[in-house]
Amino acid sequence: MATERTLSILKPDATRRNLTGKINAVFEEAGLRIIAQKRLQLSQTQAEAFYGAHRERGFFKDLVGFMVGGPVVVQVLEGEDAIAQNRKLMGATNPANADAGTIRKLFAESIEANSVHGSDSAEAAAHEIGFFFAGTEIVG
Ligand code: ADP
Ligand code: MG
Repeated sequence: MATERTLSILKPDATRRNLTGKINAVFEEAGLRIIAQKRLQLSQTQAEAFYGAHRERGFFKDLVGFMVGGPVVVQVLEGEDAIAQNRKLMGATNPANADAGTIRKLFAESIEANSVHGSDSAEAAAHEIGFFFAGTEIVG
């Protein structure tokens, strides 16, 4: 295992319910370090670009609408095997299928309003971190 960085987003359903600290505590208690973080209101253009890989999916329009519906917190997490570790902490996309104790089982409202995003590969992590952060904003 190597030290990795991954891009995490606390989605609008999480910020609306004041869950930033509770979700960050899950990351930190698992040993992931939050080495960059900012709260943003995504524009329609940003949300469409970020989820561009899902453009052809039936839920794309709703997903973009949800992601621009309130503030998000974007963050870079660093740690051993951070990409897979974060995906494990997040749980399955659909909270109904998520393991006990995962963020989505604990907090998600629905398959769409599922509280968190996490990069799913090293390539995605590099792209997604660069999408939101300048190198000078990341302090490891
Ligand atoms: P994940 O976030 O677990 O990597 P995906 O990349 O497949 O999941 O999907 C991106 C996001 O799109 C999900 O986190 C969720 O917010 C939304 N989404 C995925 N599948 C559906 C669906 N069937 N209906 C509504 N929204 C969905
Ligand atoms: Mg995904």
